[in-house]
Amino acid sequence: MEKIYGKSIYEGIIIAEPYLKGQNNLEIESFSVSEEDIDKEIERYEHSIKRAKEKLSHLIHDLKGKVAEKDLQILSVHFMMLDDPMFKDEIQISLRKDRLNVEEIIKRTVNKYSEAFKKMKNPLYRQRALDIQDIGERLLEALADNESIYDSLNGKILIAHDILPSELLDIFNKKIDIKGIVMEYVGETSHTAILAKSLEIPTFMGGTDLLKKEWGEFIILDTYSEKPVVITRPSLEVLKNYKTLQLEFEKEKEEIKATINLPSVTLDNVKINLEVNAGQKLDKTILDNINADGIGLLRTEFIYMKGNKFPEEIEQIKIYEKVSDNLGKEKPLIIRTLDIGADKSLPYYKIPSEQNPSLGERGLRFTLHKKEILKTQIRAILRASKDRNIKIMHPMVTNISEIESILALTEEIKKELTEEGISFNDNIKTGIMVEVPSAVLMADKMGEYIDFFSIGSNDLAQYILATDRFSQKENNLYDYYNPAVLKAINLVAEASVKNNTDVAVCGEMAGEVIGIVILLSFGIKTLSMSTAFIPRARNIVRKLNISKLEKIKKSVLNSKNSEEVRHIVREYIKNL
Ligand code: PEP
Ligand code: MG
Repeated sequence: MEKIYGKSIYEGIIIAEPYLKGQNNLEIESFSVSEEDIDKEIERYEHSIKRAKEKLSHLIHDLKGKVAEKDLQILSVHFMMLDDPMFKDEIQISLRKDRLNVEEIIKRTVNKYSEAFKKMKNPLYRQRALDIQDIGERLLEALADNESIYDSLNGKILIAHDILPSELLDIFNKKIDIKGIVMEYVGETSHTAILAKSLEIPTFMGGTDLLKKEWGEFIILDTYSEKPVVITRPSLEVLKNYKTLQLEFEKEKEEIKATINLPSVTLDNVKINLEVNAGQKLDKTILDNINADGIGLLRTEFIYMKGNKFPEEIEQIKIYEKVSDNLGKEKPLIIRTLDIGADKSLPYYKIPSEQNPSLGERGLRFTLHKKEILKTQIRAILRASKDRNIKIMHPMVTNISEIESILALTEEIKKELTEEGISFNDNIKTGIMVEVPSAVLMADKMGEYIDFFSIGSNDLAQYILATDRFSQKENNLYDYYNPAVLKAINLVAEASVKNNTDVAVCGEMAGEVIGIVILLSFGIKTLSMSTAFIPRARNIVRKLNISKLEKIKKSVLNSKNSEEVRHIVREYIKNL
């Protein structure tokens, strides 16, 4: 029996046979090609692009309506990458220079690019290495005319060094009943992780040399418990325990289904707002199904990252109006102004590099230096807010003078719009994200200036613990249940009471059962999370009694580490 610990990407408890994805499913032979055959190889290459594109468009067509549009966009990006002129030129030049078969040239070029991406500082680019490999495998598959390599995956857990986004979509489209995924760590924000969550496949990331392990006949995948683990060749006793745990998990799933259309109120009748963290847009069908109270965080950077220039005012207005229409005009939609820098960059604008970008020009710091960009966005938000429940929020606020600047700028824009005879919501609410320690310590004063706080616990944990949230080495140190982070959150909750400022949490913990119990015990009543987590959040909210949470609050704030915090809350949940 071996236990491999790691991260949970999507929760589940599964006992099933493992299926090992070979590191090289497509065996590539390398051979030289004579001068006169080079053109034939180029022709084969072009044919493979055509075929790969055809297959991709079929896949996109088949998946329309079955998966969220934002997930399909991944495939559209791959579609464009297949035609990337730089990549194409490089292959053709190498073919002529190295005179090797096109398969070998593709493999070498893909490896070169994907290695270059892997070395990049920016984790978002690093994770794009998988997309490059995906393109390569599509081309090789087209050249080999290879059909699915996953025929015998049905009912099993897929074990892989990495899995490409399009492979996952292929598996889904072919209706293969994949029970779970175990893969080495590529980051919670990788496309594969995002897709696994959307497709609701229990997924674990962690371990090393997974393909070299002895997996045995069946394994346990547990991404539900406190410490996500994969167990190979389990003993009879462990297996018995897991069968019980699996029943509990299934029971909870049933409960969740049953509460999906019920209000998110606690046992003592306190309404808890369960809102959604959104990228560019959300399908109405998804919003209807999850019965969300609003969008607590619209990450507008995705609108900026998509195009090839800063988006115009009109373009932004249309997007914000559409998101609000999809959500329901009366429901709150909090639009966060551009949060760029550190891990997020723009394809058309190079932010000057700094020694420590996470502590440098990012979020509001960047937009305050580029006032015209901020102005365009605030104008768009103000204009879209007419007759809609839209609020504006700024990321990475560090001190009061920044708040004064944004408020002055907003007033200036309102004056301009009035002079131009353009209507907008004059009473729009302005809030800030609390994700920097100085904002925590100054929250009581900051609250005098603004309408609401939204605590960004993802970044707040990074800055309180001085640990890069994407660090692969220190992913044990980065933990938002560290009592230091919880104390900071509680300080903001207390400050919000003092000034009667609304407060919400929009980091990942707001969608986790443990996080919800803790945040409610601090008196926080608005939580914003990934759509997938809303039903489970509603279920736990309905089991809690706010007036009885004081003890939990005291114990977690008194804990010495995150393990103790998790243990206390888990025990509490067990007895609900
Ligand atoms: C956060 O930092 O908690 C947050 C919600 O913002 P983002 O994850 O987009 O940085
Ligand atoms: Mg943040």
